[in-house]
Amino acid sequence: MSIEIDPWTPELIMYWSKFQEDLAEPVRKGTLEILDEGLTREKFLELVANAYVLADDAANTPPDGGMPVVCRAGCNYCCDESVQTSPPEVLALAEYLRATLTPEGLEKVKRNVRRVDKQTHKMSDNARVRARVGCPLLVEARCSVYSMRPFTCRGYNSGDVGACRLRRGHPGRVVPQDPWRMSCQSGVATGLLRGLAGRGLENDLLELISALRIALEMPDATDRWLAGEHIFAAARWDDRNPKHAEAIRWYEQMKAA
Ligand code: SF4
Repeated sequence: MSIEIDPWTPELIMYWSKFQEDLAEPVRKGTLEILDEGLTREKFLELVANAYVLADDAANTPPDGGMPVVCRAGCNYCCDESVQTSPPEVLALAEYLRATLTPEGLEKVKRNVRRVDKQTHKMSDNARVRARVGCPLLVEARCSVYSMRPFTCRGYNSGDVGACRLRRGHPGRVVPQDPWRMSCQSGVATGLLRGLAGRGLENDLLELISALRIALEMPDATDRWLAGEHIFAAARWDDRNPKHAEAIRWYEQMKAA
């Protein structure tokens, strides 16, 4: 089933919430089973990578082929928007950058992340769209961490590149999106986060760039987080913004479920 969600109606929100719940539960259970075998750094990173594979497989096989999506490599109109993410996604991303970049390359990414964080820290979603500050992980117009990009980036899609172009710098503009692809990513993310939260790990809703800055500047970030430290307080999604507050409420309910 594919529906253009422009705008979301209460009925559609309920339908896709249920869809996400159905997807989340087996992932939550599977995550807890894996964690019961012992939570090592390697196991944690494998868990996140497997969740991405699972979400992508589901997202890429809509029952009727899905809404035609126009997203292509090199098209990055959406990459100057705020990205909601979570500790496991950010830590896996930082570890990926450490493992794949040269020391000079890593320093360059850190500098770029710091620069963008200074420009965008605590900006509202709309201000961020208007500011048109590109994600520091873009390299030659492409996502340089494509295989490890967060669930939000994986789920974002567009049925109309003209709408993406018009939205750039103009937050009121709506882009038609396939809810199947978005919901597959959200459902798997929900299951993973519930599983991790079930073991008492810090699981706040975070803003990608501020959180990545913390994870990159703290060489033992993953170990400290796995040991139960709350290292991402400065990157929490800002609840002074009403839209963020709504997202945080939903997220807290999701974690508590
Ligand atoms: S992580 Fe990749 S896909 Fe996500 S905003 Fe940054 S460049 Fe774009």
